[in-house]
Amino acid sequence: MVLSDLGRKLNAALSSLNRTPVVDEKVLDALLKEVCAALLESDVNVKLASQLRQKVRGKVKAIFEGGGEKARDANRKNVIQKAIFDELVNLVDPGIEPYKPKKGYPNVIMAVGLQGNGKTTTCTKLAVHYQKRGFKSSIVCADTFRAGAFDQTRQSATKAKVAYFGSYTETDPVAIAAQGVAKFKKEKFEVIIVDTSGRHKQESELFEEMVQIGSAVKPDMTVLVLDASIGQAAEAQSRAFKESADFGAIIVTKMDGHAKGGGAISAVAATKTPIIFLGTGEHLTDLDRFSPQPFISKLLG
Ligand code: GDP
Repeated sequence: MVLSDLGRKLNAALSSLNRTPVVDEKVLDALLKEVCAALLESDVNVKLASQLRQKVRGKVKAIFEGGGEKARDANRKNVIQKAIFDELVNLVDPGIEPYKPKKGYPNVIMAVGLQGNGKTTTCTKLAVHYQKRGFKSSIVCADTFRAGAFDQTRQSATKAKVAYFGSYTETDPVAIAAQGVAKFKKEKFEVIIVDTSGRHKQESELFEEMVQIGSAVKPDMTVLVLDASIGQAAEAQSRAFKESADFGAIIVTKMDGHAKGGGAISAVAATKTPIIFLGTGEHLTDLDRFSPQPFISKLLG
């Protein structure tokens, strides 16, 4: 089930409540069951879906106390709909403010994530985003594992008219990251994005490399780039990166595709980290700012 289907199903469940003449606990249970089923089909983690159910129940409990006159039904509908909306917002809102790059300061942003998730594309999109807002922006390619990684950065950065740094000969990603960041800091760049490797012979080596690059460049913000279509795997993947890279923001890519999206939602809860942007296509401007409330409003149509 793609994300728009989730929206449609949630919307259908919420509107069915409007057509019900009497709102009692049985109606509430049926509605919550429908909402949970829709979330599960979208790959939202089972625990999160059942927590949402409990929280909504807890919030609306009071409306069923003290008899059930008909006059109260309309109000009950509103209370239930609001509680469900608020809990859906809470699913994608860990309540933590992400880092905001400051003008006149060398903001170092380190991007981490498994290969294929869209990291390199997203690094260029981010550079374009900040460049458009007046930040002198640059990209450092610290992926020495994948052949062609630097070429990809070079091509997309050139297309985007963004400064870039990398090496065809240096094999130590930590050295490249440190050199690139030092160079761009010296040249008064305000946004310095460090693109890292997404694959290694051993997964543990990849995580060790993230730790080393992190201590070399001391990022102001580390961003996990997560493919919306990876489903339930998102939770374990994001936890593993959280331990090594301690990212403070998530960018979910490929939201334009057939992604269910629920996995990414579970990653937010598992790591208590906010989503800051959504990747919505292959073009350099296909990057949308993410805010929990408008996202849920739009999802519900
Ligand atoms: P990396 O291995 O994580 O650096 O991933 P890449 O940046 O090379 O991206 C892998 C593929 O995903 C490329 O074909 C990108 O064009 C594509 N891609 C990245 N972001 C998006 C997105 O938001 N939407 C779509 N449709 N494709 C994307």
